[in-house]
Order: sequence, then structure tokens, then C-alpha cells
Amino acid sequence: EYVMTRTTAEWQAADAAHFLHPFTDFQALAKKGSRIITSAENIYLRDSEGHRILDAMSGLWCVNVGYGRQELIDAATRQLRELPFYNSFFQTTTPPAVELAELLAEVMPPGFQHVFYAGSGSEGNDTVVRMVRRYWDLQGQPERQVIISRWNGYHGSTMAGASLGGMKYMHAQGGLPIPGITHIEQPYWWLHGRPAGLCRAEFGKVAAGWLEQKILEVGPEKVAAFIAEPIQGAGGVIVPPETYWPEIQRICDQYGVLLVSDEVICGFGRTGHWFGCQTVGSRPDLITFAKGVTSGYIPLGGVMVGERVAKVLIEQGGEFEHGYTYSGHPVACAVALANIRLIRELKLVEHVHDELGPYLAEQFAQLGEHPLVGEAQTCGAMGALLLVKDRASGEAFPGELEIGMLCRGHCFGNGLIMRAVGDRMIIAPPLVMTLAQVDEMVALIRRCLDLTL
Ligand code: PLP
Repeated sequence: EYVMTRTTAEWQAADAAHFLHPFTDFQALAKKGSRIITSAENIYLRDSEGHRILDAMSGLWCVNVGYGRQELIDAATRQLRELPFYNSFFQTTTPPAVELAELLAEVMPPGFQHVFYAGSGSEGNDTVVRMVRRYWDLQGQPERQVIISRWNGYHGSTMAGASLGGMKYMHAQGGLPIPGITHIEQPYWWLHGRPAGLCRAEFGKVAAGWLEQKILEVGPEKVAAFIAEPIQGAGGVIVPPETYWPEIQRICDQYGVLLVSDEVICGFGRTGHWFGCQTVGSRPDLITFAKGVTSGYIPLGGVMVGERVAKVLIEQGGEFEHGYTYSGHPVACAVALANIRLIRELKLVEHVHDELGPYLAEQFAQLGEHPLVGEAQTCGAMGALLLVKDRASGEAFPGELEIGMLCRGHCFGNGLIMRAVGDRMIIAPPLVMTLAQVDEMVALIRRCLDLTL
């Protein structure tokens, strides 16, 4: 139990005076005051006013095993005592980093035996950029440098991560994207397929075809890789039509383009398999991971390297001039080990696949009948509700109404954390959520939709 050492107002004043928050309008926040989150247990947060809040976003898509797990706390404490840090740059290694690499090799999709550690998802994607370009250099095709990604995809906030990402408001600050990165449109049926009168299945193939068009436009001999999230997360939990990924895979195969699956959100059980690529049926060459690998208890990210790339890097490579101080951080790796063992022990992947995912889908289908909801989508333990002005015509709310923010405000006031991405209200609850807790969450969502109406 957290003991308050200052009042809420005191925390807020100090916060506004010194702490520049990420993705935040500093002045607007200072006026309003931050909400102070003080403690958490299972799927519930506590704030400084004593409110209990159901966290339907797992922090930031990461607390897969829920809050307060003693196994993870013990693993960190033990490792901090034994060896809080040592690097793996100069021909040294540490037991947790090795053991984690070994355990990851057990849970990664077939064809993956190697991992490159980073500190976050963004750093993982920076590694991807270095690694795919290095791969093609070593293959004697140094002109293969261009990486294709998607508008409204999210791949992090470093220079390379934000460049790969398709958030135009991010590109607008700081002169992005960096050279050699180009984008295609996202497979968002409601936005692009529905107005064109295409059914979902037809649209999936059309949207995948945009990749082929881009490869031909750039020149196949110049394209290094295509990177995408299996299910777009930060873009609004956009579940592509089932026809999309098989066609993407065919195109990557046909042109020899490396496929990178950014599984920072979709990895470690979120979609009902260990990895999202297994849910959507793709066979990536590289997988970016972070978040769920430690359930967010401590930062860790990296890249899982499939044999096609690993073989070349290892056998032809020489020195790969890349790495981070915290690549293979022993405490982070110890926590990841405990976390993955716990996911196995609690059978969380099976829980999402067999119980939580199907039940959430059922409940979201019912929320889809709400007068405010145009479309309800789920995949495993993630879901989205698209808020529309008119269900019949699909007419959107005018942007300036900020309907999502309005709804999110009601959630905040009613003990529920849900995120708004434009007019999409999204969730990604901890994978330990029980079916009774789904009922509790859905009742809260319904109340907030009614209040927004
Ligand atoms: N890739 C995806 C798909 C993400 O969702 C995120 C973060 O939300 C990132 C990369 C960046 O990860 P990080 O914030 O750990 O740098």
C-alpha cells in the first residue's frame, strides 16, 4: 500500500514545474494537473485520491501478467543483489542474458534461434534498420537500402523508429523521415475499403497490392525490407482483413524482400498466440519485441533474428558495428525470464486464445450495437470501438468535436482507463483478466458510451 508523502496538489505542482512528459502539450497539462498513479494490483490502479481504476490498457500495452507479481519482483531483487549490471560488448556475457536467449529460442516461431537485445521497442527498430541494410551489404546488394512501412503504423520515437512509423504529426517535427524509408497506405477497411464499396476480403488483397505497387515503383533491386505490425496498435487497433497478410507474404517472397514483424505490442500472447505473426499467418525474417517481454516491469526490447539473416550476419559478417549499453541488461533479462516462465505457468497464451479472446469478441460484438458505435473489432486481448455520428450511413463525427477525447474523459471519471485514437476507443487489458473482469470492464465501457451520446 502506497503511503502518500505529499498531497495531490503538491505532486501536480512539482510535476508541472520539472517533468516534461512524452507526447504532451506541457502547458495544457500544467493547467489541468496530472493524475498521480500511486500503486497497482492485478488489473487495478490506485491514484493519489484513492480511486480504484480498471486498467484496460495494461499500462501502455505492456503489463501482460498484471501488476504486483511477486515472481518478477523477486527475480529483479535477486539479480540486483548478485550482479546489477555488466555489459556484453567485449567478449563477456551474463547468465540471465544467456538463459533468456535460450528461453526465447523455445517460444519464438520456428526458424528463429537468435536474439539481439536493446532497451526498448524504438531501439529494437533502430537495430532493424541497421541490420537489414547490413544484411544486403553482406549479400553483395548494397543498393538494397529502402525500407517500406505504412502510414498510421507506429514503430517508436527515435529518429529511425519515428521515420518507420507513419504518424505524420511526428514527421512534422524534426525533419523526418530519415532517407531510405517510404510508406504505403494502411489496411483500414472502414477508411479505405468501405467507401470504395469493397468487401473486407477484396479490400485485404487491394491493400496488400499497395506493397507490390510500391516495390515496383522503387525498383525491387532497391527494396531491403517491409516492416509492419501484425495488428496496428497505436494507430487504433486496426485488425486487417484475413486476406491481407497471406498476400503480403506472397509479395515479400516474390521480390525477396525481408519481412519484419513489429511485435512490440502483439508479442507474448496478446493476440492469442505467442506472436502476432502466428495469428495472422506470416513468416517474418525479423521480429521486433519489447513491452510484454518483461510485462513492462523493467525496460527491455530487441530483435529476434530468423535464420536467413542470422546465417549471413554470423557466417559472412565480421563485426556488426551496433549495440547499446543496456543490450542484455542482466536485471531486465532476469525479469523477462521470470515473466515468460509465468506466462507459461499460468497458460496465458492459451487463456487468451481459448477464453479471454473469444469472450471479448462476443462482448465487443454486443457493444457494436450501441448507437454510437460504427464498428467493433477485436483480436485476442485487444479491441477497438469506432465512434460514429450515424450508424446507418457511417458518417463520422466532425474532427473538432474530439469525440474520442470526450469518451476517454468519461472513462477517466468512471474508473476505467481506455485510450482514444481519434474516433477509435481502444483496449488491451492485462492477459490475466478473468471473464468476470471482462463483464466489469464492458459494463463500464457501456456506461461511458451512454454518457458520451
Ligand atoms: N513498435 C510498436 C508496434 C509499438 O507499439 C511501440 C510502442 O508503443 C514501439 C515500437 C516503440 O516502443 P518503445 O516505446 O518501447 O520505444
